[in-house]
Order: sequence, then C-alpha cells, then structure tokens
Amino acid sequence: MDEDTITEMLSTYDTKNLTIATVCSHSSLQIFNGARKEGFKTLGIAVGDRTKIYDAFPLGKPDEFLTVDTYADISKHAQELREKNVVIIPHGSFVEYLGAEQFLQLPLPTFGNRKVLNWESDRNKEKQWLKSAGLTMPKQIKDPKEISKPVIVKYYGAKGGKGFFVAKTYEEFLKRVEKNKPYFIQEFVMGTRYYLHYFYSPIQNDAYRMKTGSLQLLSMDRRDETTIDEVQRLGSIAELEEIGIHPTFVVTGNIPIVMRESLLPKVFRMGEAVVEKSVELFGGIIGSFCLETVVTEDLEFKVFEISARIVAGTNPYVSGSPYSELIQPDLSTGRRIAQEIKYAESKNLLDKILS
Ligand code: AMP
Repeated sequence: MDEDTITEMLSTYDTKNLTIATVCSHSSLQIFNGARKEGFKTLGIAVGDRTKIYDAFPLGKPDEFLTVDTYADISKHAQELREKNVVIIPHGSFVEYLGAEQFLQLPLPTFGNRKVLNWESDRNKEKQWLKSAGLTMPKQIKDPKEISKPVIVKYYGAKGGKGFFVAKTYEEFLKRVEKNKPYFIQEFVMGTRYYLHYFYSPIQNDAYRMKTGSLQLLSMDRRDETTIDEVQRLGSIAELEEIGIHPTFVVTGNIPIVMRESLLPKVFRMGEAVVEKSVELFGGIIGSFCLETVVTEDLEFKVFEISARIVAGTNPYVSGSPYSELIQPDLSTGRRIAQEIKYAESKNLLDKILS
C-alpha cells in the first residue's frame, strides 16, 4: 500500500465523521473505550460469535458490530466499511489471524505504517533493523552442537510462545527438538523481563524530541506465561525436567510493572534509535510499538523482539499507567491512538499516520 493509495482511499472519506474499528479480541475493549473517550464512533469486527461479552463492558462496547465468519471475509466488506469512514486499528491478533499478505492488501485506511510488517515478521530483517539501531539482542546459536549455556529454542511462526523450549546441553536439545519444524536457537538471557510500550508520533513535538516528531513511553508490563512463571510451585525446573515435565512459554495474561527510574534514559534512547532506523529502512514506524526486553544484572537491556503495534500488555492500563498519568490523566494506549487520529484530522495530516 503506497502513499497514493492512502490518499486515494481517504479521498472518498468524510474525515470529520470517522469510525474507529478493530477486530473484537486482544486489546479491543481498550481501543473502543479510548476511541469513545475521544468522541469517535466505533465498530467491532466480530469473527464468529464474539459479541456477547461486550454487553458486560458497556464502556468498552463498540457502537455497532460487523459479524463475519472468517478473517478472510473482512475484505469482502471493505466497501461497506469505507462508506462508514472506517479507520482500522490493527492489533496482534488481527494481523496474525488475517495473515500478513491479506493485511497488507486490506483496502481500508489503517493506523500505522503497514510496511513495518515485512521487517517485523522476518526474523533476519528484524535482527538487521534492531542491531543496526545499536540494540543488543540475545546471541544466536547457529549450530546446536555449540550449546554450552542455557538456550531457548523458538519455532518460526509459533503463536504466543507455543512450543518454545529451554535446553542447557546439546543432548537435551536433541531430546526435545521437533526436527521437521524450522527453528532457531537463542541464548536464554538471565534477568528480568520488561515489555516497553512506546508511542511515536511523526506529527507532534510535545514529548521526547526526535529529529521528526516525538516519542512517549505510555506503560510497561510483564507477560504472564504458563507454565514457566508458576511452575516452581511444584518444584525446581531441574527436578521437574528429570521426571519429564518441561516448562512452556504460552502467554495467558499481563502484569503491570514499573522500572527503576535511572533506567528510563536508556529506554528512551533505545526507542529513539529504533524509530530513527525505521525511517531509514522503510519510511518509519508510526504510533504504538513494544520492545520486549530482558534486563541483566549489569543493567543492560537485551531486546528479543519488537511488536510494531498496540500490544495486549497495555490492557492493564485502561485508565492510565504510572507513566501515562504524567502525560495526561486517564490516558490508555487505545485512547492515545484515537488522539493521534483526531489531531491528524484537525491538521489535515491523516496520510502521515495511516497507510
Ligand atoms: P517471544 O515469542 O519471542 O516473545 O518469546 C516468548 C517468551 O519467551 C518471552 O515472553 C520470554 O518470556 C521468553 N523469551 C524469549 N526469548 C528469550 C531469551 N532470549 N531469553 C530469555 N527468555 C526469552
């Protein structure tokens, strides 16, 4: 989707009358709630029977639903959605279930720069982006025979950490690996995990100043992963592994967290570097993104992944976080996205934040 296309799509829009839409899952309650607070109409795209729970959360319920049978059916309704002046807010589940190809082709104005997907979903390109931005990533182990310290083995395309496993020796690796699935091996970084939720605006200069635009830190979380995060209730991991019980890394929820304040300058420098590099590589990331990090005992950040849109880790902060409260009371990421769209519309800059 190039700039001409977004200009073309917006040319038929009544931009004073936009509808914020997303798929009913992931962070949709927060997105609808935030959009509502900023005075937007909202539309929930429900795949299957997903609408019932929204009655239980009236302030997170969209004004209307579009129900489709499968994700693939969404684009069939593009014309109808365009008539409602819909702007799509993509989130992790949306992109994952729709599939990269279909998401890139979706003929609807979408918040953020869709080109980021090519850089984020390809492990080598992601590495090139983050490393050339000067970030430290966990070491990659090319040959499993070289495993001499704990490693985490990841399968390509695994959803939510499913199937990942830890190995401390080559023998252990051989016992656990599913050879028919493509995998890669990373050093298991010892430390504490922080998932940092940034917001980059290319069009506003009222936060941490950048060459163009400015950067905010809205919140951070730690993911709660089953079974690794509670397995020690039953015994040490080593003990359990001896009897064939292996920890897993499947995300089930998110826990709010704050970081020691002295680390914040590093947090901003990393965010800034990632954005500056993205401008060079593909025209720039826009809006919310998350760096997934481990902080070591030397207070170094190792970044194992980037998510280039709103993450579910922002959900504990529907009414603001200890960081966003210092920007504006009651500011969630969902609300911040709506504000960016509102501001862009008022300055005639929608094409700078949508693609
Ligand atoms: P990912 O799918 O890459 O986000 O990884 C799933 C989970 O595995 C993360 O949320 C972390 O808990 C853990 N993890 C991933 N990479 C590493 C690493 N290199 N060192 C330690 N833990 C990791």
